[in-house]
Order: sequence, then C-alpha cells, then structure tokens
Amino acid sequence: MTTVSISSEREVLELDLDRCAGYGNCVLSAPELLDLDMTTNLATFVTESWSEGDRTGAVAAAADCPAAALRLYAREV
Ligand code: SF4
Repeated sequence: MTTVSISSEREVLELDLDRCAGYGNCVLSAPELLDLDMTTNLATFVTESWSEGDRTGAVAAAADCPAAALRLYAREV
C-alpha cells in the first residue's frame, strides 16, 4: 500500500495512492487540501496540515471518495 498523509493537531487524513482512481471528488469537496493532476489522474495533497476550518473539507472528501482511498483517523498521542 502506498500512502501519503496530512494532519491536524488531532487527526490524520491518509490517502492510499494504490486505491485512488482520481474521480475528482476531492477537488470538488476539499480544494484547499487536495488537488487532482489531470495528466496522471491522481489526487495529491497540496498542504501539509489543515486548520480546524478546513476539517469540514477533509471529512467530506473522505466520505465522498468512491474508492475508499481516504481515511480520517485520530492521531496517536
Ligand atoms: S475521491 Fe478518492 S479516488 Fe477520487 S481523487 Fe479523491 S482520493 Fe482519489
């Protein structure tokens, strides 16, 4: 499994690049967090952390992903 991740103080949003099929839902639901490269059809993170206000986009992106490639989980403390 090939993954990349970004995080806030409390949570981590992880993208499984092997599952990502690049449907573009991320771009629609969380443009500040994720970008879709139309040449490779692959979603990538455009930031290394998100503010509390961006969390709504992170939650929506994880919920909307048709490939279940995004996972939002609590950080280990
Ligand atoms: S919604 Fe899922 S499959 Fe689509 S670009 Fe985002 S992570 Fe990839």
